[in-house]
Amino acid sequence: MSNDLLELMNDIAEIECDVPLSTMTTLRIGGPARYVAYPDSTVALDALVSLLKERKVPYKVIGKGSNLLCSDDVFEGVIIRLDKFDDYYFIGNDLIAQAGCSIIALSYQAMKNGLSGLEFASGIPASVGGVTFMNAGAYKSSMSDVIDQVFVYRDGKFEWMPCSECEFAYRKSIFQTHTDWIIIAARIHLVPKDVNEIRELMDSRRERRMSSQPLDKPSAGSVFRNPEEVPAWKLIEGIGYRGKRIGGAMVSEKHVNFIVNEDGASARDFLSLVDEIKERVEAQYQIRLHMEVERFNWPNRK
Ligand SMILES: Cc1cc2nc3c(=O)[nH]c(=O)nc-3n(C[C@H](O)[C@H](O)[C@H](O)COP(=O)(O)OP(=O)(O)OC[C@H]3O[C@@H](n4cnc5c(N)ncnc54)[C@H](O)[C@@H]3O)c2cc1C
Repeated sequence: MSNDLLELMNDIAEIECDVPLSTMTTLRIGGPARYVAYPDSTVALDALVSLLKERKVPYKVIGKGSNLLCSDDVFEGVIIRLDKFDDYYFIGNDLIAQAGCSIIALSYQAMKNGLSGLEFASGIPASVGGVTFMNAGAYKSSMSDVIDQVFVYRDGKFEWMPCSECEFAYRKSIFQTHTDWIIIAARIHLVPKDVNEIRELMDSRRERRMSSQPLDKPSAGSVFRNPEEVPAWKLIEGIGYRGKRIGGAMVSEKHVNFIVNEDGASARDFLSLVDEIKERVEAQYQIRLHMEVERFNWPNRK
């Protein structure tokens, strides 16, 4: 990366240098990112991305880092964070929220406004950008059930995309195949409901999560996608891996599809455990598990 890059980026956005990705992910794992940029407007984002493309500098937009397994290596590029894109507006029964908003905070705001639809998301520690990208979901609901349109930056233009064009499926969206597109905001359609009813549902879901998930330990949520035939946790349980540990990474005792950072785990510890689980499950059940957690900055591994 050329010497004047930092100076040019500094004119566009707030920039931090050499920031460990472990401080930007819920797993608390990951080597340093050379630069982290915090654009505060679409104009700044456009200028920043144009500069990085022109200079052929790798970059990645991240949300709350709750679905990322970053390698221990240095990321020689720019992490773009949309934390300053945190405005939201209620318009009638719809909620327009910028990509950096916390989906947990929004689901509580919707509840206070007597609007139902985001209860399922009230325990997902993620950003609007991240939940849209992943089509995150729980309790048989997912973002695609409530997203009406997505405001996206693609090919140098900002435009609204209708939900029908987002190719949403189980934990999938078109944004996963167009990784250069940036989600700026989403328009979420909600329906009026009694505030107390919404609150009760959210409270019961919170209790369920607290009793079934290791929320006191760093993790990235469920590690594997559920195969069609059988939930991933049953397979992991079946190979006897509850509590299995490699280095600082451990299969949670509380929820076996969670691998927690028990004690200063490296990315390598985590991935070794993942690989071992995949191998044993395949040998025992002839089922191939696929990671739901995304690996980032693993240049030497497919
Ligand atoms: C305790 C815990 C519980 C969880 N529970 C659930 C659950 O119930 N259901 C579920 O589905 N998931 C769950 N997850 C996983 C995770 O929260 C989701 O996958 C979520 O969608 C990730 O959002 P994020 O903002 O953290 O994105 P990140 O992890 O930061 O990024 C994920 C991907 O989205 C891309 N991305 C992020 N923002 C943008 C943007 N603005 N434009 C373009 N691309 C973008 C990133 O480049 C990356 O590829 C859980 C995780 C934890 C730690």
